[in-house]
Amino acid sequence: MTTTTEPAAETGRDFIRDIIQADLASGKYQEIVTRFPPEPNGYLHIGHAKSIALNFGIAQEFPGHCNLRFDDTNPAKEEQEYIDSIQADVSWLGYQWAGEPLYASDYFDQLYDWAEGLIRSGLAYVDDQSQDEIRLNRGTLTEPGKNSPFRDRPAAENLDLFRRMKAGEFPNGARVLRARIDMAAGNINLRDPVLYRILHAHHPRTGTKWSIYPSYDYAHGQSDAIEGITHSICTLEFEDHRPLYDWFIEKLPVPARPRQYEFARLNLTYTVLSKRVLTQLVRDGHVAGWDDPRMPTIAGLKRRGVPPAAIREFVRRIGVAKANSVVDVGMLEFCIREELNRTALRRMAVLKPLKVVIENYPEGQIEEIEAINHPDNPAAGTRRIAFGRELYIEQEDFMEHPPKKFFRLSPGNEVRLRYAYFIKCTGVVKNAAGEVSELRCTYDPETRGGNAPDGRKVKATMHWLPAARSRTAEIRIYNQLFAKPNPDAGNFAADLNPQSLEIFRDARVEPAIAEANSTDPMQFERQGYFVRDKDSTPHHLVLNRTIGLRDTFAKQVGKA
Ligand code: ATP
Ligand code: MG
Repeated sequence: MTTTTEPAAETGRDFIRDIIQADLASGKYQEIVTRFPPEPNGYLHIGHAKSIALNFGIAQEFPGHCNLRFDDTNPAKEEQEYIDSIQADVSWLGYQWAGEPLYASDYFDQLYDWAEGLIRSGLAYVDDQSQDEIRLNRGTLTEPGKNSPFRDRPAAENLDLFRRMKAGEFPNGARVLRARIDMAAGNINLRDPVLYRILHAHHPRTGTKWSIYPSYDYAHGQSDAIEGITHSICTLEFEDHRPLYDWFIEKLPVPARPRQYEFARLNLTYTVLSKRVLTQLVRDGHVAGWDDPRMPTIAGLKRRGVPPAAIREFVRRIGVAKANSVVDVGMLEFCIREELNRTALRRMAVLKPLKVVIENYPEGQIEEIEAINHPDNPAAGTRRIAFGRELYIEQEDFMEHPPKKFFRLSPGNEVRLRYAYFIKCTGVVKNAAGEVSELRCTYDPETRGGNAPDGRKVKATMHWLPAARSRTAEIRIYNQLFAKPNPDAGNFAADLNPQSLEIFRDARVEPAIAEANSTDPMQFERQGYFVRDKDSTPHHLVLNRTIGLRDTFAKQVGKA
């Protein structure tokens, strides 16, 4: 697999849209019907966003519609929580399905009737072999499979057994219904695949009505046919299943003949997009839940402060191809920064405060300093920040014994406080442990607004906050959840990044941030983009860093 670091050369066009355009032009279809078919066994992730944008996007661009259909054929793993979250996430991404959400379980009766039809035609049989026997007898890529001893059961006996399976007479795993195709087929999917298995499980929608459930392979294509899906778009791993889906469509009296098209799934560096692994990350407590801001889930990205427009733009840029590849996560970050740079209002926050006392500033005096909300958008206006004798700066912005290239604050050195004044460090106060606990500075009253009338320059401009008129906040900084560009999905715990979350509990922010009850994104100058987290209470503000400011990826690829 190759790693993609550059946006697709041509965006907005792809082979699937070309096919659709041709099908409309030839008059094969007047309307295009697509669907997004998640299994409700987990939360949606950024990979699903690619499929969502493709299916719903096509329905927006061409005449037609897109269904949201839950492929809810395995009650052992499916939950209402997932059904709810999937709907919320699709809507949040900005897409609308046609009518009500649909469910494969709505078609259970029809699927069952069709299965009886296959039995009557001698195209399906009840197999009493155990799961292990079925697997052993399936053969390998180089060896054909072995026929089941039950393969030639008379139709009447099959029908009777199948009905009793449905009636709940047999325990889980006792029997299955299989298609009677070809145990020697080169494509293993055609070696008498399982159509129904016995499962005494409560289904979120059909309750205890069914003791047997259709396999995904049996349900999927027929559900598409029932819904009149014209272009059944799925990921490449289903390419080998297409001959089986076509077999069902040919043998069954279905109302339509959907055609399946496969595209490459999204893979991202530093990211695992397997629902099995994501489920385990949550269950084993490696993260705080499905919406942990380090998760690649839509809910996690949302909580982290990623705008839906950034995800849509990312998906547009990566395009749709037929060859598997790995996309550099930097491309996603680039799209997030680009969107937030445009929308986020500028604020100041100090992650690790160091107190500064301006010795020549009058005690008790406060003045209001005007600060710009967005440098590219004058309509965003200004705000006022209180400047006084006691301030906070970032600990990192001071060094008592600076190396040569350190231009920020150090004893004797002059710097600019953003929007305010030039200050110079005149003294250092240390605690019992010998650490710098406070700085003594002087300011130049002539430099109000941040410029010296005599034209003298400083090499650094630093953010700051007033000590009295700022608020405490907890700031959470997220880094990659995995330490390796290609984490091992088989042994993912070993590849987790131990530094994926850093918490700054004594950060300071502008008071307006604490008061506003907003989920709008903010840029903290020099720090990155931030958003209020849902853990906030009226007395405890929690902010997530969505992403830092540094734009290494943009440097690589230019501002294309
Ligand atoms: P699993 O089937 O193992 O539970 P899944 O990720 O395939 O996991 P589904 O709920 O079946 O989950 O996925 C719904 C749709 O999203 C499918 O059509 C699938 O092809 C598509 N999809 C899933 N993962 C990706 C991905 N990484 N990139 C693009 N599309 C994806
Ligand atoms: Mg799937």
